[in-house]
Amino acid sequence: MLDRLARLEQEAREAVASVSGLQELANVRVRYLGKKGELTTLLRGMGQLPPEQRPLVGQKANALRSTLEELLRQREAALKKAAAEEKWERERIDITLPGYPFAAGQVHPLTAILEEIKAIFIGLGFQVATGPEIESDYYNFEALNMPPDHPARDMQDSFYVAPQYLLRTHTSPVQIRTMELQAPRLPVRIIAPGKVYRRDDDATHSPMFSQVEGLAVDRGITFADLKGTLLLFAREMFGPKQRIRLRPSFFPFTEPSAEVDISCIICDGEGCRVCGQTGWLEILGAGMVHPQVLRAGGYDPQDVTGFAFGMGVERIAMLKYGVEDLRLFFTNDLRFLKQFR
Ligand SMILES: [Zn+2]
Repeated sequence: MLDRLARLEQEAREAVASVSGLQELANVRVRYLGKKGELTTLLRGMGQLPPEQRPLVGQKANALRSTLEELLRQREAALKKAAAEEKWERERIDITLPGYPFAAGQVHPLTAILEEIKAIFIGLGFQVATGPEIESDYYNFEALNMPPDHPARDMQDSFYVAPQYLLRTHTSPVQIRTMELQAPRLPVRIIAPGKVYRRDDDATHSPMFSQVEGLAVDRGITFADLKGTLLLFAREMFGPKQRIRLRPSFFPFTEPSAEVDISCIICDGEGCRVCGQTGWLEILGAGMVHPQVLRAGGYDPQDVTGFAFGMGVERIAMLKYGVEDLRLFFTNDLRFLKQFR
């Protein structure tokens, strides 16, 4: 009987050592310690032993049970540890690896310029106003002192979408729309940014481009207010040493009217290729609001005066960034756009 126990222990040790997985180990446990297992069966045969041998065999058998249970426990722990390590190796994350690059976005250069323009005028007390891009003939031309037979209409070849309706050729209709809403309250101080449309297409003209309109109406507004406002804008936008120059011009909706130049930002007035050797760059048109326009907006030109201006956002961006072809802003070429980070 003791021999059989010793053999059983030897077999069981080898069996435990040779298993390679937890399921196999469970089978070994059942084979030796289960209800019909070898040790259990052997113990059941103890009744056949002579009584004097029973205590010793019983003691040995219990010791073997404890030994086997301990062996199984240790083997199970070792297998679990190995499995966990293998899982770790398989799934571990190397936090020292470089991450995936994250493409940070940026605003379009025209948006950046527009935001800058808005910030300058908002700082001067102007409010932002908007109007529709499909405009009636009345708001786009007639209310701005351009009756149907006015020759100035030829300056702006237009896209008509229906008789009497067109894609607005400038942001100036917002002047009338704003005054109509606000009259007779004073002051009117708005800028109106937005897209406008003309039948032009070359390096410095696009069929669609962006303007910012400005309008100030109040009692006692003079040409000096206009000049001061534009000088401040030029200095905020292009640098504190900027000078401006106003040249007499003609617009149907202002009188008197002026083209406004800034000193060349490339050569600082010395004369270069960009400014055509003049030392000046044209950036916008402006003037005192025509009495007819004030009347169309619901104000009495005997009582109030005002100034207005309009600038092309692309033109400002081209000057500020040194871009020579306006169409680059609209072709969405990332090689171009990424230069404005
Ligand atoms: Zn120059």
